[in-house]
Amino acid sequence: MAVATLTERLAQVKGVMFDIDGCLVISDGPAGQDGRVLEGAIESLRYVRESGRSVCVFTNGTAQAPADIAAHLRSMGIEVSDDEVFTPSVVAATVLKRKFPNDQIMVFGTPGMLVDFHKRDVNLVDLDKAMAGEKFDTKAVMVGWDTNFGRAKLQIAAEALLAGAELYCASDAPFFASNNRLNVGVSGFIASGLEYVSGQQREVLGKPSHYSMEVISEYLGQPASNILVIGDDISLESKMAREGGAVAGLVTTGTSSAEDAASCAPEIKPELVVSNMFELIDLLKQADAAKV
Ligand SMILES: [Mg+2]
Repeated sequence: MAVATLTERLAQVKGVMFDIDGCLVISDGPAGQDGRVLEGAIESLRYVRESGRSVCVFTNGTAQAPADIAAHLRSMGIEVSDDEVFTPSVVAATVLKRKFPNDQIMVFGTPGMLVDFHKRDVNLVDLDKAMAGEKFDTKAVMVGWDTNFGRAKLQIAAEALLAGAELYCASDAPFFASNNRLNVGVSGFIASGLEYVSGQQREVLGKPSHYSMEVISEYLGQPASNILVIGDDISLESKMAREGGAVAGLVTTGTSSAEDAASCAPEIKPELVVSNMFELIDLLKQADAAKV
């Protein structure tokens, strides 16, 4: 895309979604655990706010509740409110409550993941009772970061899916970035296993799904075309932005490199590539200066 066109598009941006891991912080676990703040992260968030744009941050991790992630980010100097933190659990609870307002949903994940479902008053299957043999009826099985997913859970999940429940998954990314190694994703691993045993196809609710883009767009109060999505993974943030019609940005401090951006499929190619978040501020400043 020509520089002038990108500048014009950035000038129209009225909301920004920042990825967390590999974009704002780099860490040894999901959502900034034991992490450090990446260059320009605090400043870019501040600039975006000062320029009058709305803000949210989005991690595909579902181990922690948004309020805990927000508190952790604030302890590192990254100023975000609890409401500005999005996870696939937030998207899942929102989407599944709308789709199945009166039905029970079977959810696998940490207590942190369940917070969003309780908050939105989603009717949940009691897993302990179901595993003990009590009858249940569910329209959807939702899989998140569940590190205690053993045979008993496999059994009730497979039964639900074979009876026609839909299969949803927080993220099916095989890995996510951290300081010194690639962390293996859990929910995609479980969901693809359930797909194998039940034949039911999984649908991802976290990034890069259109569900996530829609929930973000609603929160930021902007159509996708007025939103910039910036993150470190072309297959997540850039793909979601391009498919949804948002502006796609890549920062090369995590998973994807500038070479990856040059060689990836054209339909998911990021429209802007920066090597740190200070460069994003420069691009936004240029766009804002050209506006007046
Ligand atoms: Mg990331």
